[in-house]
Amino acid sequence: MALSPTELFAIDSLLSEEERTIRETVRSFVDIRVRPHIADWFEAGTLPARELAPELGRLGLLGMHLEGYGCAGTSATAYGLACLELEAVDSGLRSLVSVQGSLAMFAIHRWGSEEQRREWLPRMAAGEAIGCFGLTEADAGSDPAAMRTRARRDGDDWVLDGSKMWITNGPVADVAVVWARTDEGVRGFVVPTDTPGFTAVEVPRKLSLRASLTGELSFDSLRLPADAVLPEVTGLRGPLSCLNEARFGIIFGALGAARDCLDATLAYAADRSIFERPLSSFQLTQAKVADMALELGKGLLLAVHLGRLKDDGRLTPEQVSLGKLNSVREAIAIARECRTLLGAAGITLDYPVLRHALNLESVLTYEGTSEVHQLVIGKALTGEQAFR
Ligand code: FAD
Repeated sequence: MALSPTELFAIDSLLSEEERTIRETVRSFVDIRVRPHIADWFEAGTLPARELAPELGRLGLLGMHLEGYGCAGTSATAYGLACLELEAVDSGLRSLVSVQGSLAMFAIHRWGSEEQRREWLPRMAAGEAIGCFGLTEADAGSDPAAMRTRARRDGDDWVLDGSKMWITNGPVADVAVVWARTDEGVRGFVVPTDTPGFTAVEVPRKLSLRASLTGELSFDSLRLPADAVLPEVTGLRGPLSCLNEARFGIIFGALGAARDCLDATLAYAADRSIFERPLSSFQLTQAKVADMALELGKGLLLAVHLGRLKDDGRLTPEQVSLGKLNSVREAIAIARECRTLLGAAGITLDYPVLRHALNLESVLTYEGTSEVHQLVIGKALTGEQAFR
């Protein structure tokens, strides 16, 4: 009897019954609702985010580990497992959920006023309103302090000018959390996207995360009332706290993509006959799948460990960097290695492996590039900061 990589590592023995139930619920939803269409959506460069959001909301997946305001309030580990199952289908789907819950909703939940929370969070948790998170600009990615978007006071109002680039959910969002330079330092603003002066256009010609809507946002003398600012934070620690949440989901999510690649490859290798024997019976194949299963299992053990630390309130940003760096780097290596075992078939959308590998190029870059996480870990180990 062949074992799956997760069975081999007995990962389930580390999970509670509730966590396993949440995982199975998400897995069966995405397998029925999304998996049959995902290759077509990827090929067409689209995702029906408006249709999917209320369904994801009904499952409690939007703002899943936040408390109150219609959010499910699960453990962080359960949220991670949900991210894993979402990304096992496609990183674009997980990105929709991560940006909604960990970036846009978390920003409002953690740093917003009670009125902002009441106005937006229940609708966002239900998937009736979609959120995006605008931090990156065309010339300010890894170094968000270089941002040029500016908000100035005009009487009681704020006036916002500038642009944001690479914004997931941007073209479809009802509300954008936008970070801008002000005389007081970087502040966050809750911006309804129907405010005059707001435009969002889709970033064209992407070869990665094609089943995700990525936008460029522009703000042209966009006028906001005084209470649009997130009152509880000033400075980059605001957006960085949100990124830390989303990075946590990626620690689990990227391993979902890797698992899906390995599952597809093990099934293919068992069926594919080469030199009159199954591809899976060759030693070189077995060395590859053994090494991949080992990295997947090690990644899962680290992810569950970090999830438990987060549930205890003890997870540090440096530990999030360890997990994000490891999961994405190993997942992309697994996806590429799986592609070799599928031969020519591996370059098509008939199998998920190259789609996952292409998606993981974005995942490697967003939420802190691998190099940025190496610098975070390097600083923790040496005490020296090497960012600049
Ligand atoms: P750069 O910062 O220009 O980096 C270029 C290279 O320089 C990288 O290899 C990097 O690792 C390296 N580098 C950077 N700093 C150092 C250093 N100190 N030392 C050595 N090397 C360094 N942003 C949002 O705000 N919201 C979103 O919803 C969002 N969604 C995204 C979706 C997609 C599909 C993609 C691709 C990106 C998204 N981003 C989003 C943007 C993402 O966060 C940035 O792309 C990322 O921060 C990297 O910035 P950059 O692309 O400008 O690369």
